Amino acid sequence: MAERGWMAVAPGRPTGVAIGAAVADLEISRAWLVDPSSGREGPGELVVSDGVLEAVSWLAGDEAAGIDDGGVIVAPGFIDLHAHLREPGNEDAETVASALAAAAHGGFTAVCAMPNTSPPADEPGVLSLVRAAAAASGSPVALLPYGTVSAGRAGEVLAAIGELADAGAVGFSDDGAPVRSGSLLRNALLYAGAIGLPIVDHPEDLEQTSGAEANEGLVATILGLRGWPGAGEVAAVARDLAIFADVLTDSPGARLHLTHLSTAAAVEQVRAAKRRGLPVTCDVTPHHVALTGEWLAGARRWAWQALDDSGRARDPWADGVLVAEPYDQSTRVNPPLRSADDAAACLAALVDGTADAVATDHAPHTVVDKAVEFGVAATGISGIETALGLLLAAVDAGRLTLGRAIGALTTGPASILGARLGRSAGLTEGAPADLVVFDRSDGWRVSADGLVSRGKNSPLIGQTLSGRVLLTLAGGRLAYEDPALADPYALPARHPWRHRLGAGRSPGDRRTDARRSNGDTPSPNNRRSASAMRSSRIARRLLGQLVPLARPGPAGGPSSTLRA
Ligand SMILES: [Zn+2]
Repeated sequence: MAERGWMAVAPGRPTGVAIGAAVADLEISRAWLVDPSSGREGPGELVVSDGVLEAVSWLAGDEAAGIDDGGVIVAPGFIDLHAHLREPGNEDAETVASALAAAAHGGFTAVCAMPNTSPPADEPGVLSLVRAAAAASGSPVALLPYGTVSAGRAGEVLAAIGELADAGAVGFSDDGAPVRSGSLLRNALLYAGAIGLPIVDHPEDLEQTSGAEANEGLVATILGLRGWPGAGEVAAVARDLAIFADVLTDSPGARLHLTHLSTAAAVEQVRAAKRRGLPVTCDVTPHHVALTGEWLAGARRWAWQALDDSGRARDPWADGVLVAEPYDQSTRVNPPLRSADDAAACLAALVDGTADAVATDHAPHTVVDKAVEFGVAATGISGIETALGLLLAAVDAGRLTLGRAIGALTTGPASILGARLGRSAGLTEGAPADLVVFDRSDGWRVSADGLVSRGKNSPLIGQTLSGRVLLTLAGGRLAYEDPALADPYALPARHPWRHRLGAGRSPGDRRTDARRSNGDTPSPNNRRSASAMRSSRIARRLLGQLVPLARPGPAGGPSSTLRA
């Protein structure tokens, strides 16, 4: 039985809808809808009734006046192709429950779980364990597990690929490490291809990167860190593409997905391979698009700000932009944060579709594993909650369109998962509501306490990101709601939400609201009760009033807020 909880979505009152409960009644009006599955975006409204996305209406003419893409955005729920959930084996760093909650805070409604747990997901029992933990969490976010390529991730013999597929694996990966042997990769592509599933490889030539600490270049040299050559990635991509091309002649169903490409040369290899007709796919991470190696030295500007007008890399020491402590272990990640040129190439790959998707490589770690010497700190960034904000930074800077950013988080990953996703990646009428609502006119300051993930290892802590997530619905159920929807008065007095949600509003505003309520256009759903209508009006007013606000000022670097 669905709860009629949305009645309570009003300033200062908790919604009463529990995480995981069906969303009985929600109407969002005067928002900017982005639906990459239909190639459409623009002003619109939608109605959710008993968990189902009942109506999506696009507005035009007078009705659309004043609605732009700088306010409240509604998009299909995001899909993450690459996340580390750490359970079983390292629950201090993350659990399935905390990861799914963090995902919902980031706007994600489906998360592909990497199998490098302890024990690794190389047999169906481990997959059952992880799925049971997801069910027990009560989160409606879908967990889509990968199985390993090799038994024990040891790179020697193939895992039980058929059994893992029967148990629900959506693909296979030895991530954390590459598929070590070429002959093993060949067999894996053949077997998985026969059942229509992808091999997801982490391309790294371990011989070249052994002992590496930071991207080879100026920053590594000055900080005295051992160089991590881009050629280590390029060589691995070349090997993978050569084997894949070979396998395809025997097994046309084989699929190779290269994850977290980080270098200009590797991205170019994939672009050329796609041009030749090879059905290879790849993803880039938000941090390889928006951050660069100079963050290790203490810079906190975006990747595109680290290039001068002629496209040449700037010198952070000469520019005087080193505002944070160097050797911050939260900037240590595999592959490493690269040069500004590499980041620009990853962004260009996203823009032109060479990169099919953005994947977070969410990699939570404990303080114990991170608070050690830079070169031995665990690699990885807790990134599933900041992914949207990093992409929106690129959108704000005019480097990426909003539609493409959303596409790389929805239809892109969906095309790689195929039927195993189990839902559409669009704003589809008649389907369970699976969507994220975020506000581009509102930013949020990343803090350790504010991250839902147990992993607080983020170089973005202290930075302000745009695109605050207000609501996430997964499979028709509530996955996340911004605490301000429940209690705006908990916010600091000067927080923009406090003003918008009622405190200090003039009587004139109230009259406008009353007129808007009286003039409601009839809902396509006439069967709803009076209380349900009233509740949707409250939700509508709440969200509607967020829309006409000005966009944030010209996109500056996050450094401006570092010491705020
Ligand atoms: Zn990896």
